[in-house]
Amino acid sequence: MTQVDRAHYAPGDPYTDSPQPIGFGATISAPHMHASACESLLPFLHPSATVLDVGSGSGYLTHVLANLVEPDGKVIGVDHIQGLVDMANENMAKGAEGKKLLDTKRVRFVKADGRLGWREEGPYDAIHVGAAAAEAHSSLIDQLKAPGRMFIPVEEGWSQHIWVIDKKADGRVEKEKLFGVRYVPLTDAPKN
Ligand code: SAH
Repeated sequence: MTQVDRAHYAPGDPYTDSPQPIGFGATISAPHMHASACESLLPFLHPSATVLDVGSGSGYLTHVLANLVEPDGKVIGVDHIQGLVDMANENMAKGAEGKKLLDTKRVRFVKADGRLGWREEGPYDAIHVGAAAAEAHSSLIDQLKAPGRMFIPVEEGWSQHIWVIDKKADGRVEKEKLFGVRYVPLTDAPKN
């Protein structure tokens, strides 16, 4: 994470450990949340892994994930707001290393409903979900490799918890509830 300048991705106060607004009703998550996500997914982030980052927003975590799957891995960032897809591309192009990730197509940002995943480039060794889901969407679990791991905040009534969902080598799916969190919700795309 220290290799990716958060100032390229967070418009204000980039070096504090807190979420920051990035426009379009979205926030870049706090560094400690991104660290926790990376730490959890790390066993699956091998040098040629394919990773899906749902709700990629600013693009910061997408960049960190791409560094963790060097040299041949790739990361698809999905967001349902075109303005954020554009912003993530612009943010990443601010640094030479980020620009190279885009040029070599090791990172690609696409506009889509992330609840459905991104079947075109799956299955994925690791899936990160950056917005709170109403459920652990089955299309995302379907797009996990066996073995593979998903890190996903899930809404339960008034609270949200991180779930780590593992698809084992034999295809069995195991779910573990970790800690309470507060994420913006994974929603329908805005109408305009
Ligand atoms: N990981 C990002 C988090 C951004 S906030 C970062 O740290 O910068 C959550 C993001 O999820 C927002 O960008 C929002 O536009 C996106 N989002 C919400 N619902 C979505 C959906 N159904 N499909 C794709 N992206 C969605």
